[in-house]
Amino acid sequence: MNWEIVIGLEVHVRLKTESKLFCACSAKFGDPANTNICPTCAGLPGSLPTLNSLAVQRAATIAAALGSALQARSEFARKSYFYPDLPKGYQITQYEHPLAVGGELVVHEGGREVRFVLQRVHLEEDAGKLIHNRKDGVTLIDLNRAGVPLAEIVTEPTVSGPGEARLFLNGLKRTLQYLEVSDCNMEDGSLRVDANVSVRRPGAGLGIKQELKNLNSLSGIETSLGVLVESQIATLESGEPVLQRTFAASDGYVTPMRQKEEGADYRYFPEPDLLPLEVTPQRARSITDSLPELPEARRTRFVTEFALTPSEAEVLTSGRDVADFFESVAVATRGTDAHQAAGWVINETLALWSGAEAPFSSSFLAEVIGLVNNKALSRQAAKKVLLEMARSPTSEGVAELVARMGVGLEADASQMEQWVEAVLAEYADEAARLRAGEGRLMDFLMGRVMAASRGTADPHVARQLISEKL
Ligand SMILES: [Zn+2]
Repeated sequence: MNWEIVIGLEVHVRLKTESKLFCACSAKFGDPANTNICPTCAGLPGSLPTLNSLAVQRAATIAAALGSALQARSEFARKSYFYPDLPKGYQITQYEHPLAVGGELVVHEGGREVRFVLQRVHLEEDAGKLIHNRKDGVTLIDLNRAGVPLAEIVTEPTVSGPGEARLFLNGLKRTLQYLEVSDCNMEDGSLRVDANVSVRRPGAGLGIKQELKNLNSLSGIETSLGVLVESQIATLESGEPVLQRTFAASDGYVTPMRQKEEGADYRYFPEPDLLPLEVTPQRARSITDSLPELPEARRTRFVTEFALTPSEAEVLTSGRDVADFFESVAVATRGTDAHQAAGWVINETLALWSGAEAPFSSSFLAEVIGLVNNKALSRQAAKKVLLEMARSPTSEGVAELVARMGVGLEADASQMEQWVEAVLAEYADEAARLRAGEGRLMDFLMGRVMAASRGTADPHVARQLISEKL
């Protein structure tokens, strides 16, 4: 029987700022516990929050990029609940009047276009972190994260399945990386997702929602959501009701969490220590005007400007660093086929790319491609040069490195001569027939030379040399 899946996502993005949202403490991840705290973020009485303008700017940039309408006036609110990692007893967030409303994210995958409708984008502070030490039976509290700025992006509950949820997050992560507003490192918790999940018969009213918290890997999201959806369907098909519960996701499993209070119990009220946040139309316009080219626009432009196939363009815009790298190679080798540059980046560069740094500069690759096109370097030798540069980077230029490695075609010439002579001697009969005009034997002898060189010989040079020797 048919079931319709209804998923709403709340994505928490840690914004890239030096300091926290309401105090001057460092927002750096990974420092020794409780070294970045002050009376404000530790929730001591009498301390007052001061808003970090860079955090506002980053959140507003995210909103603008997602077409979420920046509100002229938004408000901070207190969300009251007690938890040991929340020293004030409330979290400062935005509730009734968020920073931005509406918006959408459009994602392309495998030739189809999916639109995700957004509800809102707002600013809030992160809580601290609890470290459970089961061995000693104690729980430790690290408040370094308390007060770190987050943007929360909320979708409408119209995500239609676990695969779509992964697609949305992948697309959102890519957009955030292009905007350079967050590290987007899911392992460090820079990007955390909560999901509301329910199932229903097509046309029926909404089913009972279950909440899934702490989703922090792309593959984990799809698996954990799948587990929850399956269990809801199995429960309903056995005639039992789905219970309103919260689950925690970890490594593709879901485990029930303690029952939390409902929204109404948070007793939201406007934060009295902060003025309403105002964004003037000029400010909103300047944020929109300074947006970089976003992944979808760049993908489309790569197809039209460089005549790439949609799948090449998809790979090459998967990250802003890769897209920038390809574009400078394509520009530097302009006049030659951009497909060729795309091929060198996709096939010979991406595999060598580890972490944030490109394995070599785009100008280095452009120069290597130039040498191959000018027949000064074989394709095989070019690959060796790129690999060498990626493994042990040096300040040498392409020409110096080629000379040091002895892989240039000049260095190959004597080796090539030996291969050709050996083949002509071994296949003297065929060589004589070729000399007598049996042209098709050229391909046969060429094949022998290529085999002798294990595919490293330049076919163009080999052909020339066979003709000369004959
Ligand atoms: Zn502080």
